[in-house]
Amino acid sequence: MAFRHDNQRAYPNFFNAPVPNWGEAQPGLMIVGLAPGLKGANQTGRPFTGDYAGDLLYATLGKFGLATGHYEQRPDDGLELRNVLIANAVRCVPPQNKPTPEEIRTCRPFLVTSIEVHRPRAFLALGRIAHDSLLTALGEKRSAFPFGHGAEHRLTSGAILFDSYHCSRYNTNTGVLTTQMFEDVVGRAAAAIAA
Ligand code: URA
Repeated sequence: MAFRHDNQRAYPNFFNAPVPNWGEAQPGLMIVGLAPGLKGANQTGRPFTGDYAGDLLYATLGKFGLATGHYEQRPDDGLELRNVLIANAVRCVPPQNKPTPEEIRTCRPFLVTSIEVHRPRAFLALGRIAHDSLLTALGEKRSAFPFGHGAEHRLTSGAILFDSYHCSRYNTNTGVLTTQMFEDVVGRAAAAIAA
């Protein structure tokens, strides 16, 4: 809260508020990210928009027909998501870019409600924190569905959960996540909801 108020003073033209979900109301796939970046989604008010992670995410969604238009790092770029909704485990930009357990807990009810309202058939968790928070939101036992890049879990509800390492600058610069690895997971998720 104090951090958000500091940002409102430091960056009065930024969005500086909880970033809402973005995408289709009845999506086949719900993508769950981590949290807005200070000068990305926290500035623009649209998930991943202006964040380094958005460059790979939106290029990949476009490649598999899950987005149309051109991503230009601003919310009025005309990009549209197809059969996809993007949410974040944490809705406000966290201090030091690292969400605390308390923030994750505080934001979880929004994830629970989003799932109830939008009822996706598949989920794509970007990183372990999103994966864990999503499982708790779904009432699943974390130990039954261990996080792993490329893992595909059949949940109790019948929905499928795909896991990927987060498409962050750190992960892509260090080679933890390559474009090929990310495309492999997103391609499988796209095929699952098209089937
Ligand atoms: N990273 C995320 O996980 N979510 C965003 O909205 C932006 C960056």
